[in-house]
Amino acid sequence: MGPKTAQRLALHILKRPEAEVEALAQALIEAKKKIGLCQICFHLSAEPVCSICRDRNRDEMIICVVSDSRDVIALEKTREYRGKYHVLGGVFSPMEGIGPEQLNIQPLVKRVSQQQLKEVILAISPTVEGETTTFYVGQLLKPFTKVTQIAFGLPMGGDLEYADEVTLARALEGRRELE
Ligand SMILES: [Zn+2]
Repeated sequence: MGPKTAQRLALHILKRPEAEVEALAQALIEAKKKIGLCQICFHLSAEPVCSICRDRNRDEMIICVVSDSRDVIALEKTREYRGKYHVLGGVFSPMEGIGPEQLNIQPLVKRVSQQQLKEVILAISPTVEGETTTFYVGQLLKPFTKVTQIAFGLPMGGDLEYADEVTLARALEGRRELE
């Protein structure tokens, strides 16, 4: 949530009756208790396996790798992608002590090595950390399947989460094989 959204929310809450705010707080606590991570793809989920992983109408042969659950939500909004996902839970950040061990990379390698996939799409924001993560993950997955990287119509440093739906759909469409 950005500062503007937070401010709008705070102003909205101030104007509402106490009982309503209490109900909202209760609902948030309940939501926090219920929401966990999908055992397969690590997307936010109230169930052990998320609705995307359970959806039999989606293409099981393609996995799109993102850094964050917010990216799954952004990509779902484009309605262009019908495969599955894998959420890494961040990108490499030596400053914050985040390396391969801290991300959901091993489960991804396991997932990819145990299936006959058509393609793995790496859809990680093109920041310096994002590019490093893409390169690392790509090299690990290449022995098992075709690995592509989405083409951003964004300047270097652009964030996937903030890209509009058209830009994201185009980035997905224009993906190219990772070198
Ligand atoms: Zn899932």
